[in-house]
Amino acid sequence: MNHIAQFDPNQKDGPRSIERFVEPLRALPALRYEPLGSFGSGSQAYCVSRFDFRGGKSSDPIRIALFGGIHGDEPVGPLALAEFLRILVNEPALSENFHLQIYPICNPTGFEDNTRNSRSGRDLNREFWKNSSEAEVQILERELRSSHFNGIVQLHSDDTTDGIYGFVRGHTLTENLLRPALRAAGQILPRNINATIDGFAARDGIIYDLYEGVLAAPAQMDPVPFEIILETPQKAAMELQVQAMIVALRTILEEYRRLMAFAANI
Ligand SMILES: [Zn+2]
Repeated sequence: MNHIAQFDPNQKDGPRSIERFVEPLRALPALRYEPLGSFGSGSQAYCVSRFDFRGGKSSDPIRIALFGGIHGDEPVGPLALAEFLRILVNEPALSENFHLQIYPICNPTGFEDNTRNSRSGRDLNREFWKNSSEAEVQILERELRSSHFNGIVQLHSDDTTDGIYGFVRGHTLTENLLRPALRAAGQILPRNINATIDGFAARDGIIYDLYEGVLAAPAQMDPVPFEIILETPQKAAMELQVQAMIVALRTILEEYRRLMAFAANI
């Protein structure tokens, strides 16, 4: 877990490099890597990396998108998704009938600079579906519009919480995915059970409201996807945050598959 140790909040960060982060993931078998878009120029040229992983040969797979690092100073998302890609490669049963599209670093300049905002000074997670001129947002909006995801999960960390929590939106079954995910992740880090979290009313660590302009599916999407934002306590040990995220993601996939199978049998 050296990869993780270098991002531990209690250690001093060296300079961050997208290339160094993405390179070992590109070498993993059975993943398709695609750099999306291109912005900036020369040594300052960036793209948004997408990794595709298909479990099984279903002609109509369940399409799930996982997004990390839209806030550049929250490395838990990129690290957890990198680790999750390795797990998918070694554990094919986990992704049976799924087509996963994974975007570990949605804000590459912020990731390199270790800043919440992108280098243009914008909080990219307040820019969606507002005709934003930010390249990263336009690239991701294209993905969200064209891919018809059944589910979307976004990974974040929060320095004002001592426990894990999450936001739900979209499909009515979404809270039935987040609840067991928080319960499972709660074995690794405490859960935030306050009545108010991040200024929102919350119940059992679940918030049913969202900031305007967050990365989300466009309106009137068919199918209506489930949408979850997971938040880990930023001051906790990075390795525990990563583990909690992975357990949560694993639970969401397993629960969704179970609910779909159940619905198909009614
Ligand atoms: Zn965040």
